Amino acid sequence: MSKVNSDKIYDAAIVGSGPGGSSTAFYLSKLGRSVVILEKEKLPRRKICGDAISQIAQKHLTKMGVLQEILEEKKGHWAEIGGLISPSRITYIDNSAEVIGSHLMISIKRQIMDEKMVRAAEREGAHLLEEYNVKEVKFSEEDKIWTIVSQDDSKKKIKAKVLVAADGAVSKIARSLGIVDSPPKAVSSSVYIKAGTHQFKEDGVCIYTQDILPGYTALFKEADGDLVFCCYIIPGGRYKTSDLQHVHLSFLSGEPYLSRALGPNAKIEKMNSAPLRLGGVKKSYANHLLIVGDAAGMIDPLTGEGIQYAMDAGEIAANVLDEAFDEDDLSEKFLKRYQKKWMKTFGRDFKWSTRMVKVLAKKPIFIDAFAQLCNDKGPSYMIMWAKIMTGSQSKLSFFKPRLAVPLLLTSLKLSLKKK
Ligand SMILES: Cc1cc2nc3c(=O)[nH]c(=O)nc-3n(C[C@H](O)[C@H](O)[C@H](O)COP(=O)(O)OP(=O)(O)OC[C@H]3O[C@@H](n4cnc5c(N)ncnc54)[C@H](O)[C@@H]3O)c2cc1C
Repeated sequence: MSKVNSDKIYDAAIVGSGPGGSSTAFYLSKLGRSVVILEKEKLPRRKICGDAISQIAQKHLTKMGVLQEILEEKKGHWAEIGGLISPSRITYIDNSAEVIGSHLMISIKRQIMDEKMVRAAEREGAHLLEEYNVKEVKFSEEDKIWTIVSQDDSKKKIKAKVLVAADGAVSKIARSLGIVDSPPKAVSSSVYIKAGTHQFKEDGVCIYTQDILPGYTALFKEADGDLVFCCYIIPGGRYKTSDLQHVHLSFLSGEPYLSRALGPNAKIEKMNSAPLRLGGVKKSYANHLLIVGDAAGMIDPLTGEGIQYAMDAGEIAANVLDEAFDEDDLSEKFLKRYQKKWMKTFGRDFKWSTRMVKVLAKKPIFIDAFAQLCNDKGPSYMIMWAKIMTGSQSKLSFFKPRLAVPLLLTSLKLSLKKK
């Protein structure tokens, strides 16, 4: 672990060493700025997640040298065979990797990925302080310096010109400063199923049932043969966040595809859950302050995925801060560029996701139609679906004629068949 000089005034103090904090630290250190990362846990730490890492996130991991390490150590599992099960149980499962010649997703246990990311930031010169649980942050208007205080009085106070809050969905810091003013509105569960105890032959499958929409469940295979199962409760449907345990357990015990995939001897761990702050906050900046990742609600409202957005935002934050240091202007007015840039990169697409959430909650037939289209026309539609859902293509693509027309026609055919 790097030693932290307590008398030093860092350019930036970053709270949280998840993908948001580590990527900000990596990119900012690479630009030559002095950075300290404050993480309340001892690493490696467990992070409740579905561990599904999209192509955009893979690009950041590659820039950091992390994906290469993970592949060398065989700690990532490429999703090749996978697909979806629709509300009317139309199933499409295929090998999309064969068709596109690359992989849209890889499963990596967060415990492994997150530690490697923070080590990559350290290699660029960032200092990491583990088991530093930030209790309080104070900004001196006079000196223009933040003082950061640990829960543990024996730990030294940290001083920095900029504070980056990347402390996750609860956003303790952003909320204490009054920047974020509401609790997260969605929730997801996650459990591991022990390798060797299940019968899952695929790599990743999403299951959409009518009652859980606009949420869904997903089952992915990990490199060590474990499975990870997640159940996402997204507002707008029948279930409330408080129903999570009931929904999670009823899926694991009664959903037919899952029952077959898990088999009678599956060793399933006890349910874990964590909140999801969806759709991006309206303001993620203030004087000498940026909010990154889940803390700023950078989670796609349609999928519950946030790793790639936290990483994108980390890179954007680093670039904006670098310019701000060059200009000697860390004011709210200057740092507003950060909000504009992440909104342009991915935030605007969240608005389309929110619209899609509303449509799917009312018209599950569109997911049936999608699965049917894949069956009728082959994997190119599945790939389109996966690219849109994982943010490689805009959600607007759902509304473009190439997709919207066949989708509408298939929906019409399916609804006539039902009558
Ligand atoms: C069940 C579930 C499944 C998910 N599945 C996926 C998925 O498959 N793919 C995907 O892309 N996204 C998924 N997500 C979302 C994803 O986990 C987040 O978007 C991602 O972790 C955001 O990274 P972050 O760095 O902003 O926050 P986090 O990863 O939450 O990191 C925040 C860090 O801050 C630290 N911290 C918090 N408070 C303090 C403090 N006071 N002092 C010091 N340190 C502090 C925490 O210990 C933590 O290390 C899932 C989320 C959940 C809950």
